[in-house]
Formats: sequence, structure tokens, C-alpha cells
Amino acid sequence: MKVAAGRLDRVYKCYQAAYEEKALEVLRSGWYVLGKEVSTFEEEWAKYIGVKHSIGVGNGLDALCIAFRILNIGFGDEVIVCSNAFIACVIGITTNGALPIFVEPDQYDNIDAEKIEEKITARTKAILAVHLYGQACDMTRIMEIAHKHNLRVVEDCSQSHGNHWQGQCVGAIGDIGCFSLYPTKGCGAFGDAGIITTNDDKLADKVRVFRNYGSRVRYHNEVVGTNSRLDELQAALLRIKLCHMDELNEERRMIAKRYSQGIHHPQIQLPKVRPGADSTWHQYVIHVRNGRRDALMEYLDKNEIGSIIHYPIPPHLSEAYRYLGYQRGDFPIAERYADEVLSIPMYNGMTPEETDYVINKLNLF
Ligand SMILES: *Cc1c(COP(=O)(O)O)cnc(C)c1O
Repeated sequence: MKVAAGRLDRVYKCYQAAYEEKALEVLRSGWYVLGKEVSTFEEEWAKYIGVKHSIGVGNGLDALCIAFRILNIGFGDEVIVCSNAFIACVIGITTNGALPIFVEPDQYDNIDAEKIEEKITARTKAILAVHLYGQACDMTRIMEIAHKHNLRVVEDCSQSHGNHWQGQCVGAIGDIGCFSLYPTKGCGAFGDAGIITTNDDKLADKVRVFRNYGSRVRYHNEVVGTNSRLDELQAALLRIKLCHMDELNEERRMIAKRYSQGIHHPQIQLPKVRPGADSTWHQYVIHVRNGRRDALMEYLDKNEIGSIIHYPIPPHLSEAYRYLGYQRGDFPIAERYADEVLSIPMYNGMTPEETDYVINKLNLF
């Protein structure tokens, strides 16, 4: 049996007729960027997340860049982010000229909120809470710290669409929520797409103006904005998937449960879910002990099972950020995680037979 690390064709086939009918409708409409599909999707997304405003943008990185830009966070400012973040999280900060301040992750692979306060300085302006792998950060503690130190909170919910922290949807808790809607993400498009959420009227208005060349009225430019617009085709197709988000998340929870109950191996540590949190299982990330990760990956490959490392190089050690001056040893937990983590197959439409095949092969490693 062949089991890919991820696959998008299964969920496409599930809603194929609706997707194809809708795509033709948009193609024939004669209106392709920022139209009624986008505004309807924005309303539906806001309702789904439980926020006042949603604004569609070009992709997840743009969502982050725009969020920090409209919060006026830039040169001379510091933003706190987990040391095991995806590179886009850090680029969102540095594109605006701000400095990322790394905080190590905890046993749940998310930022260790108890280590945030020791990193706060007079220059700290925000915390970027990345809900990695589908699991919510400890938002209660993060919001408490932010209020105490007068910091903004931006949530990167790209891997956690529709996930909750103590009953509240992620992306509705901080000042701004940023979502990538890239095809592999929970509510994935058929190309690049992203969306920003907020309960703040003023911030929402700023995002709306900024994403479209800084203009509210065509050819009247209020600020030096950017072009980061969502197109009608993506929005229309995203609306179809959004209708099924809760059942898609539930399906991945069932796969994760099957994994967690079935995998028993002394060298494999299963993912832990923080009390009070839930996970949408964007990835099912195991930690492989004793330096055996790469051997396990090779073994899985031989058995035609795909797996991916999210992520092999922590941002502070990536070549792109050499200028920050960090060295190996500066963030030992993130560095260890980069050597241990492995995402095993997880996708909507994965069959129980495929899941059991992966479980059996893992147990025989
Ligand atoms: C995918 C992702 C992004 C970037 O989104 P793009 O749409 O690829 O620009 C940012 N942050 C996280 C956590 C992601 O998973």
C-alpha cells in the first residue's frame, strides 16, 4: 500500500460537482477580483470564526505583513514569536523592519507562555501566537501577559482553521488573526489565498484600504498600500469548503485518535494536546527519540509511506537570518525539535485501512 504524507485529490473528489459548477459560474460572470464572492466569503468567514470583520488577502504571508504594518510595528520594535515557528511567521515580522525575539516551545510544540515575560523589553510591541500543527496556544496566559505589558497580539492561525481555545475560535482572541488559505491548509483554496480577522473596526478598515493600493475610492490613494487581493474564483471555491470545515476537522480528529490509540513504540513520542485546548490536526507530529528520526523516515519511505519534517531548520539557524547573529545552542529546545519531529500521513479522505497500515509499519520499526 502506498500512503502519501498529504493529498488534496480526496477532498476535491468529495465536493467535485459543487466545485466545478461554481468555478464555471465565476468564469462566466465576467468579474474576477474583489467582487461578491469575496465579500460573501468574508462575511461567512467572520461568522465562522466569531469575529466582526474578515478581510481577504493574497496569501498567509501577506496577512502577517499587513497585520504588523497596520499596527505600526516596524523599525526599532520587537515582536515575540516561538523559536520553532514556520519561516513565514518570522518574515512577516522582519519585512516590516521589526526584530523577532524567539521564545522556546513547550511540550505541546507551541510557544511556552511562561517564558514570554523574561523576553519583554521597552521595545516589545507584540506577541505573535502561532497555533502550530493545528493546536491552540495558551491564549489565556498570552492575553494576560499582553494586557499587563500593553502589547498587541497577532494570531497566526494558518494551521488552525476553526480550532478553539476554551470555547473561543482562534483568530478571534487577539487583536488580529492571520490565516493562510494555501491548498494544504484546513480551508484550502486552489491557489494562493489568505484572510485577516479582527473585532476592531479601525484595524479592519485599515486592512481593507491597505490591501488594495491604499485606496478606498478607485484611484484615490490614502496610504502607500500594496496589492494583496483575494480573487473571486478562490473565494467562491473556499465558500464550498467552509461549509464543511467542522466535519473535515472532525474527520482529522478521528484519524488522530486512531493514531494515538494504535501507535506503540518506545522511540516514538506521540503529540500531546494541551489541557483546555483542542487540535484540528493540521499535522500529526511525532517526536522520534535517540536520533532515530532520519532512520524512521527512510524506513517509512521504503514502505511507501510519506512523511515530512515541519521544520528541519529553526528560523534562527536558517541562512536567511544569519544576520540576526544567532548560533547553534541559542535555542536548544527548538533545535532538538527540528531533529526529532516528523509529520506522518494526515489528510481528509484518509481511509482506516491507510491509517492502520501506517500504524502497523510504525509499530514494526
Ligand atoms: C502556511 C503558513 C504561512 C504562510 O502562508 P502562505 O499562504 O504560504 O503565504 C504562515 N504561517 C504559518 C504558520 C503557515 O503554516
